[in-house]
Amino acid sequence: MAATVLYPRVALIGIGLINSSIARAIKRHGLARSIVACAKSEATRRRATELDLVERTYADPAEAVRDADLVVLGTPVGTFAELGRVIGPALKPGATLTDVGSVKAAVVRDIGPHIPAGVDFVPAHPVAGTEHSGPDAGFAELFEERWCIVTPTASARPEAVERLIGFWRRLGSRVDVMEPAHHDLVLAITSHLPHLIAYNIVGTAKDLESVTEGEVIKYAAGGFRDFTRIAASDPIMWRDVFLNNREAVLEMLGRFNEDLAVLTRAIRSGDGRTLEEFFARTRAIRRGIIDAGQADPEDQKKAR
Ligand code: NAP
Repeated sequence: MAATVLYPRVALIGIGLINSSIARAIKRHGLARSIVACAKSEATRRRATELDLVERTYADPAEAVRDADLVVLGTPVGTFAELGRVIGPALKPGATLTDVGSVKAAVVRDIGPHIPAGVDFVPAHPVAGTEHSGPDAGFAELFEERWCIVTPTASARPEAVERLIGFWRRLGSRVDVMEPAHHDLVLAITSHLPHLIAYNIVGTAKDLESVTEGEVIKYAAGGFRDFTRIAASDPIMWRDVFLNNREAVLEMLGRFNEDLAVLTRAIRSGDGRTLEEFFARTRAIRRGIIDAGQADPEDQKKAR
């Protein structure tokens, strides 16, 4: 596809896994003329420059967004309210403000009040990631064939929404548009609860380590290993996800506990039929993920 500049100047607030992947993909596809970034630490700002991800870095987010046509918030969602307050007055009329946060209703709540007239606020969430963090962890292909969920605010102009959708498509994503609350409910079960379960099971195993004398690590390939990968995800990012999607996660956790009680009862009473039926249903879900092309690339290949 021929390179078309969609946003002449892009400002990335935070330059970790997600925003550094966006920087790499923007460059690869020629979607901007200049990219600048803001990060909290001097070390990250220096690293972003060394990796040649951006033209310039800033310590002050308000400085970074000045003159930007697209601003992407890519920091933990707990920082958004304060960032919104700081950058709001510096946003250029006609600019689009978006984010990549893993929750959406809280983001609209926290940033919405700081959006000046003439700026389009179009929240988004690329459903793509790894357990790694920081500017070295990103890669240009991260979003390819992955979904990006866009949750436009009522005041955003349709052409600004369409442009942002086009941007994500150029990064290789498939795009869905959703209400923020619906996004939060769906992601609570597909992403947030699995992370909570992984953190919990790894924590429980760690606490048992003195009883099992190192065998948890030795026999990790028995299933535990996959949980440890997820439970190695950034603690700050995930703390903020749970604090900002409380209702939906608690709703899903309630249902999860009910199902767990059914399985507990079946095991206790030797009810093999219930267990087998349950496991057969869940196996079909795995098949559906592979058929939709959403498994890991390696698993996708094996399934062919
Ligand atoms: P990350 O790799 O940990 O990077 C976070 C970046 O934000 C770092 O550059 C950090 O700078 C910067 N930062 C933190 N607080 C800041 C502040 N107050 N002002 C300016 N910069 C600040 O995080 P990530 O994994 O890319 O996640 C970023 C966002 O994407 C989160 O909202 C997350 O919910 C969302 N998300 C993550 C994933 C995933 O799998 N990781 C997937 C989809 C969406 P320093 O390095 O200097 O601290």
